[in-house]
Amino acid sequence: MTTLEIKNLHVSVDTPEGTKQILKGVDLTIRSGETHAIMGPNGSGKSTLAYSVAGHPKYTITDGEVLLDGENVLEMSVDERAKAGLFLAMQYPVEVPGVSVSNFLRTAKTAIDGEAPKLRTWVKEVKGSMENLRMDASFAERNVNEGFSGGEKKRHEILQMELLQPKIAILDETDSGLDVDALRIVSEGVNRVKDNTGLGVMLITHYTRILRYIKPDFVHVFVNGRVAEQGGPELAERLEAEGYDRFLVEA
Ligand code: ADP
Ligand code: MG
Ligand code: MG
Repeated sequence: MTTLEIKNLHVSVDTPEGTKQILKGVDLTIRSGETHAIMGPNGSGKSTLAYSVAGHPKYTITDGEVLLDGENVLEMSVDERAKAGLFLAMQYPVEVPGVSVSNFLRTAKTAIDGEAPKLRTWVKEVKGSMENLRMDASFAERNVNEGFSGGEKKRHEILQMELLQPKIAILDETDSGLDVDALRIVSEGVNRVKDNTGLGVMLITHYTRILRYIKPDFVHVFVNGRVAEQGGPELAERLEAEGYDRFLVEA
């Protein structure tokens, strides 16, 4: 059982126009096996929340805490966060020139586990996950993110997640740029990891369509750097019907 606690998180970013406060007191707790949808209009700070928990250097924590089973995440390096069981799939994953998917995955697995995976079982696992995600075997020999289509990037993210077996995953707009078939395959991947490992998920999305495939236990409406309202899955249906206007007016 793992718990990620975000308490009163305040985050700013330096811009050419000066320091800008983006997160203004975020409280959120995610436990193993739970899926939390974070929904909100563009620019409300959803990605900033993901980057802040990931340890992106651009974002300055000005107040609050992030704890993983009581351990201070904000004091951990990015590598230590991954080792501790946090997985952060970014909205715009970076290219890693000259490194094949296969080597990248094995290096990441070795770093996280502290030892190299047994070659034979590892090769089998990678192959199985790739088949589940309908990825061609040749994909393993391509360089990470080099010329990947939107769908390939997302599948690669989920492939990493399935193989690295994190405790808590933060998925930022995993649904963006996916056609219906890819959305279903990627969602099935997330659900498989949830079912097999009890993964806790923070699913950041602008639209409700991915929630038809990945069922949230909790929905949080994010507006202007904080959670404006929370509820169960029915809240997502209301947002689909009513949009974010009501919350924007209140904010
Ligand atoms: P969302 O993911 O909900 O669309 P973001 O977290 O990307 O929102 O952005 C929230 C606000 O913070 C926006 O106004 C955005 O322009 C600003 N912002 C985010 N990151 C940066 C950055 N690195 N530099 C300058 N402004 C940023
Ligand atoms: Mg955005
Ligand atoms: Mg975003």
